[in-house]
Amino acid sequence: MKLITHKIIRGEIECMTGLHIGGSSETIEIGGMDNPIIKHPITGFPYIPGSSIKGRMRSLLELKYEMYENGGEVHRFKGHNCKVTTCPVCRIFGTSANTSDIGPGRLLVRDAHLDPESVEKLKKLKIDKGLPYSEEKFENTIKRINASATPRSIERVPAGIIFNFELVYRVFDMDDAGKTDLDLLQYVKEGLKLIENDALGGSGSRGSGKVKFNNIKMYDSSGLTSEVDFNI
Ligand SMILES: [Zn+2]
Repeated sequence: MKLITHKIIRGEIECMTGLHIGGSSETIEIGGMDNPIIKHPITGFPYIPGSSIKGRMRSLLELKYEMYENGGEVHRFKGHNCKVTTCPVCRIFGTSANTSDIGPGRLLVRDAHLDPESVEKLKKLKIDKGLPYSEEKFENTIKRINASATPRSIERVPAGIIFNFELVYRVFDMDDAGKTDLDLLQYVKEGLKLIENDALGGSGSRGSGKVKFNNIKMYDSSGLTSEVDFNI
């Protein structure tokens, strides 16, 4: 097993609706919102943890390809870990036990930070409206029995904000000159597409988390490369 190359996949994540990726309430300031989003501890700007993107890609691919479960048995709620060498999920996202047959997980997902223009937009929002680089969305929980409403709020990145993302995909020679890993790149693309169709972060079933991946380009040490066209 030999590492042949790193494919670097870069692009933009555009928030089509508000985006809620939860942060810790221990780190929010006094007077901060309920249900806060994750923010950089120094700049205070929201970001998208790589683990949120990677985790959602993995879980949606698992739901779609449950046929890859070991021996045809589906362990839907335990998470997938079949360790079959050609399994796209185990190969791309890694397995719990590092089996030499399959090698390490191929995909690294960096934290996605704000595009510079979006930084300016959020600064303006803070100056104009006093909002902490985010919006506050109010929702009502309706008691079914008497229709009384209990309001609550969640913090969100507003629609229209853009983050820059970077994925790193490691191609290994498994006595196949890297062919299997390159073939499986299609599933990385599909994982992004599944997130577009589904949602990123929390409250997806209540209107948050619709995103679009734009202007995706892939690079390796030789420059731009195009084994997979991510922009379809
Ligand atoms: Zn598997």
